[in-house]
Amino acid sequence: MEIIERIKDMQAYSQDLRVEGKVIALVPTMGYLHEGHLSLMREGRKRGDVLVASVFINPTQFSPNEDLDKYPRNFERDRDMMEEVGVDVVFHPRANDVYPEGYQTFVTVDDVSKNLCGLTRPTHFRGVATVVAKLFNCVLPHIAIFGRKDYQQVKVIERMVRDLNMDVGIIGMPIVREPDGLAMSSRNEYLNPKERKAALSLYKAILIVRELFENGERRIGALTDRAIGVIMTEDLARIEYVKLAHPENIDELVGVVWDRALLALADYIGETRLIDTPVLGEEFENC
Ligand code: AMP
Repeated sequence: MEIIERIKDMQAYSQDLRVEGKVIALVPTMGYLHEGHLSLMREGRKRGDVLVASVFINPTQFSPNEDLDKYPRNFERDRDMMEEVGVDVVFHPRANDVYPEGYQTFVTVDDVSKNLCGLTRPTHFRGVATVVAKLFNCVLPHIAIFGRKDYQQVKVIERMVRDLNMDVGIIGMPIVREPDGLAMSSRNEYLNPKERKAALSLYKAILIVRELFENGERRIGALTDRAIGVIMTEDLARIEYVKLAHPENIDELVGVVWDRALLALADYIGETRLIDTPVLGEEFENC
């Protein structure tokens, strides 16, 4: 497994691979890897001749009051996990190479960024779209693999790729959960044992809403109120939003849902912000 830090070296490496006709698969991450990340890498391993994983904590997707400084990191551990899963190249650039002095270009994906996480994190998806566009220009992948744990992010990237005519296939993979149902996240590391228990309220809410939906409930208020009720029984939980959204354009749904709807939950458990985003009406994967 190669580790490449410099952008120019990554580009040269990928250009050579393209000349050889190799299919390059990219899995972008911010590191502190878990089974959710590894599931994307396994998929990339299957689909690409060469699997590149990037590890970069992207400062532009954090607001000044967010957890950039304390975001968990352990590159040695990540490196071992990536080697184990068959990553060929780790792209590990430095922040001041990605955003050198004088940097001023950003990618804004309009409507699909506005609802849900965009309401409380207004510059988040601008940071995500910008770094993903830059990673595509550095790694030159044919395909890139993302997790539906960050469902809105997948839709933002799909839209960016379409609108900017980027020649990269985007693949969205199922949410990977802990055995008790909590969606895996690097931020779960922040939870103390009491909070870890309280964090399960999101999954409990999902199961109850799913059951209601499967039994025919289609009134949005009835579905979201039930989820809110379940989460509110947890003293440590503070709801940021519980919404049903259109699974393609992420618009908020009103009235009744029909066949498919994104159930989007964002909650603080203590100081830790957690999200979960299953789609009602689809095979519920492992939800
Ligand atoms: P992050 O390191 O949090 O930026 O995540 C890197 C990629 O892994 C993103 O595409 C995430 O959506 C994906 N990911 C994170 N957690 C999970 C999970 N529990 N299941 C599936 N994909 C995930």
